[in-house]
Amino acid sequence: MGKEKGLLEIRIAGLSEGIYEYDFTCQASDFTNPELAEPGFSKEIRTRVAANKTDSEITIDIETKTLAEFNCDICLAPLKKELTGMYRVFFVFGEPCSVSEKQSEGYRVLDRNALVIDLTKDVRETLLLSKPLKVVCIDNPECSVYREDGAEHSEEKHGAKSPWQESLEKLKNKYH
Ligand SMILES: [Zn+2]
Repeated sequence: MGKEKGLLEIRIAGLSEGIYEYDFTCQASDFTNPELAEPGFSKEIRTRVAANKTDSEITIDIETKTLAEFNCDICLAPLKKELTGMYRVFFVFGEPCSVSEKQSEGYRVLDRNALVIDLTKDVRETLLLSKPLKVVCIDNPECSVYREDGAEHSEEKHGAKSPWQESLEKLKNKYH
């Protein structure tokens, strides 16, 4: 509880060149970030990490999968959605003096004598990025109108009318 350090770390001491895979399973409550403790991430979080080590660098690919729980933005119905997040981090072996130039290119400098790489923050970031901005239920046609395209193109730009719009119009005409 509250102890985030070391949650998702990979041991790199003595690792020879090659590709290594790691699997982690954790809960949102294992992270100290309150955003992940929200109902959205209530289920088990599976993380796969692929580390590609060469003589000079380590490329880390992170993939997270979790079944998240949301409420539809429009009708507020509860719904579940499997979220997949992907993220890549580069670590370059180097001396502390080369830190400034390398880090500006999105690389992180890793001490050659480092024993482990802690990926907790990166995994948390991957999870947060996998969270959709909009969540709308699929079953309810009144809500799915707003899926993907966003509200602004729903009627005018597509031209095509959804079944519920058509039936609404028929209903209106009936009473004219
Ligand atoms: Zn809905």
